[in-house]
Amino acid sequence: MLALVLGVAVGILLGEDVQSIKWIGDLFIRAIKMLVVPLIFFSLVSGITAVGDIGRLGSVGGKAMMLFMGTALIAVTLGMSLASLVQPGLGLDISVAGGAVPPPPDKSLTQMIVELVPDNPIMAMAQGSILPVIIFAMLFGISILAVGDQGTPLARAMEAGSAVMQKMTIFVMELAPFGVFALIAWVAGTFGFDALIPLGKLVALNYIGCGIILLLVYPAILRFIARLPIVDFYRGIVDAQAVAFSTASSNAALPVTLRCVQRNLGVSKSIASFTVALGATINMNGTAMYLGVVALFGAQAYGIDLSWYSYVLIALTATLGAIGAAGVPGSGLVMMSLVLSSIGVPLETIAFVAGINHLLDMMRTMTNVTGDAVVAVAVGRMANEIDVEEYRSDDDV
Ligand code: ASP
Repeated sequence: MLALVLGVAVGILLGEDVQSIKWIGDLFIRAIKMLVVPLIFFSLVSGITAVGDIGRLGSVGGKAMMLFMGTALIAVTLGMSLASLVQPGLGLDISVAGGAVPPPPDKSLTQMIVELVPDNPIMAMAQGSILPVIIFAMLFGISILAVGDQGTPLARAMEAGSAVMQKMTIFVMELAPFGVFALIAWVAGTFGFDALIPLGKLVALNYIGCGIILLLVYPAILRFIARLPIVDFYRGIVDAQAVAFSTASSNAALPVTLRCVQRNLGVSKSIASFTVALGATINMNGTAMYLGVVALFGAQAYGIDLSWYSYVLIALTATLGAIGAAGVPGSGLVMMSLVLSSIGVPLETIAFVAGINHLLDMMRTMTNVTGDAVVAVAVGRMANEIDVEEYRSDDDV
């Protein structure tokens, strides 16, 4: 927060001269981009192998996955609707700061579907083609589970890789105050005070979107799918929400979420640990919603007309981005390149919004973590593995 305020002040003071410190922000953005491919790969593979066995992946996993994907799609649609309504990027011209608009992809739909499957996974990784990497990672994880005991050492290695990449993300985020300072100073210096209004709108949209998910989407699932009272749910999960909000990390909140889901909401241990652990990695509705908002924001700022097809691409990539993001601070920012590049919006947009990221990340994470608990309750109810007495009781721990 201090870096944000100082950055705005320095940017206004320096004006155009602010270019001389932009490199600090570029360093931060490059460090973030460096994480994308390995973070997605390890986090997805280990998320799948954490399920334990292939049978379980099929039964409980299928229901959980449907809810994860369904809620992510609702969230990104909500984000796009809010951004279409408010048009936060309209009137703002980021293009003066570089980032020429690339020509729209001239591929047919079938060609795009065909290219989702990489003919060479290493090349897909080297070129940073995220969607084929996601497909490969999912198949890789499923195959590790399918070979059983023989795959265990590899599953362990993937888990270790995921822990290492999460640590690396945290290291990179240590640079955040410097990056935030330089980037917001650059925004304020280059675009003037006016640029802060669109950024303010982004903050507002992020909070409103997450608020709608928390107050309408989740209650609807609890009411119509789990058929359980809503107030008891929110009373039981409040500790996890507090930890998520303050740490901006689904992973950091994981132990508390797990305890709340089991002890306060009465979900069986096996369903709770499976859905909450997998959810912390792949179920991120706040992130999906925000990726939808940012995609439209970038398109509006660069004056790019979006076809219906672009909206479908945003929905798809934001959902996959939310799945691929790890539960650590700032990983939503890492995923922006996937969504923006799919619709031809220059990645400079990321530099523009990075300054305010943490402020938004806290609310997104709280929404993400609450979503994990909602899915745990819904799946627990469907599998008849929830203690309704416990769920309703108010002696929470
Ligand atoms: N920090 C978020 C989480 O851990 C992900 C994001 O950056 O949106 O859930």
